[in-house]
Amino acid sequence: MTHYDLIVVGGGVSGLTLANRAAYRGQLSILVLEKETRLGGCVHTWQAQPDYWLELGAHTAYNSYKNLLQILQERHGLEEIIPRRRLGYRFLDGGRLQSALGRIDWLELFGRLPFGLLRSKQGLSLADYYSALFGPRNYARMLAPAFAAVLSQPADAFPAQWLFRRKSRMREVPRRYAWDGGLQRMIEALVANAPFEVATGMPVTAIRRQRDGFEVMAGGEMLVCRHLALATPPDAAARLLLDSLPHVAARLSRIPMAEIESLAVVVPAARVRLPELAGIIGVEDDFYSVVSRDPLPHPRLRGFTFHFRPQRLDSAAKLARVCAVLGIAPDDILGVHETVNRLPALTVEHVDQVAELDETLRDSTLYLTGNYFQGLSLGDCADRSTREAYRLLKTHHRHHRKEAHHG
Ligand SMILES: Cc1cc2nc3c(=O)[nH]c(=O)nc-3n(C[C@H](O)[C@H](O)[C@H](O)COP(=O)(O)OP(=O)(O)OC[C@H]3O[C@@H](n4cnc5c(N)ncnc54)[C@H](O)[C@@H]3O)c2cc1C
Repeated sequence: MTHYDLIVVGGGVSGLTLANRAAYRGQLSILVLEKETRLGGCVHTWQAQPDYWLELGAHTAYNSYKNLLQILQERHGLEEIIPRRRLGYRFLDGGRLQSALGRIDWLELFGRLPFGLLRSKQGLSLADYYSALFGPRNYARMLAPAFAAVLSQPADAFPAQWLFRRKSRMREVPRRYAWDGGLQRMIEALVANAPFEVATGMPVTAIRRQRDGFEVMAGGEMLVCRHLALATPPDAAARLLLDSLPHVAARLSRIPMAEIESLAVVVPAARVRLPELAGIIGVEDDFYSVVSRDPLPHPRLRGFTFHFRPQRLDSAAKLARVCAVLGIAPDDILGVHETVNRLPALTVEHVDQVAELDETLRDSTLYLTGNYFQGLSLGDCADRSTREAYRLLKTHHRHHRKEAHHG
């Protein structure tokens, strides 16, 4: 049986940032196991043409993602960061494109704002906090669809404190950026020359506790590790822990998942009637959002990823909706790519639940990371992974000191 100091299950941004942080000084033997043949999870770039890519999942990173940027800087350098042009989002309501300004009820806004500004977000949902701040009509007309577009799911119950957290920025990096070749390349940069092993196409199917660590069954092989990090979606982590740590599994299984049916198209730029924009926010539409590639322009092509609500339309109906929104004919489409994304559907109650989870794990050699601890963004994932990696390094060194003492 092969033995590692640390096995990380899940090769998305959370798993890879945790492995990088834990590999600090290269003292631990680390293996990352990813079930798909592709690393990245929700970071998923489609190479639509030799010189044109589109993002099926995450598309924009910010210079407030400091932990992620620090790791990339150490591992690979930041030369492949490319700034995204600043373009606006438009609302699509009843077939009409509108700017945010066109949807604001100014009277309601001015009646509210001065009273709401100092209110804490703690314990409040997006709907509670922002309805009080901007007024219920402004919330329903503007913010509810905008938040659903940002979070790719109905977002009213999402904890307000987990969106737009104040963070310091890495000033030398553009405020909003992409990665040359797509964010998938950024994921690859996280493992380039890394002092840990990565195995793809290796689904972990079972986990057993041992006296001094864990047995991990992956791809028909039994592996052994002292420390185990789960960086999968919470429902997958719950399934894996059901037998060995049922109390942790029970807490994880309380976090439901949302599905997003994402469909990307590439079209000749000359055929699209839409103005240049960052994206479209659907108002009571079949999609939450359309993310455009216009912030990274191309001389001949335009690309759009539609994030559809689940189980509403089949592929043909989705393409019909795409053509209607873009004002194109089906023959104009040069390429299509579809995937199903999954994100945790977080609510205010989960803030306390993950705090309790952390309390349960305090003295354990099991580590949990992902997009369900303090927010969904790539930066939130890297922040969580950094915290868990520091807990791991502390536990590891404490254990070694104890062993040396007894030895
Ligand atoms: C449509 C969409 C748009 C987004 N846009 C942005 C954006 O613009 N900016 C931003 O910052 N964030 C964005 N996000 C959020 C962000 O992309 C995700 O929250 C983040 O990538 C999640 O990373 P993760 O590693 O925690 O989870 P995931 O990406 O879900 O990775 C988990 C990994 O675990 C693997 N796995 C699961 N089970 C097993 C198993 N049994 N064995 C081995 N491996 C397993 C999976 O295959 C997967 O690769 C977006 C998300 C979506 C869906």
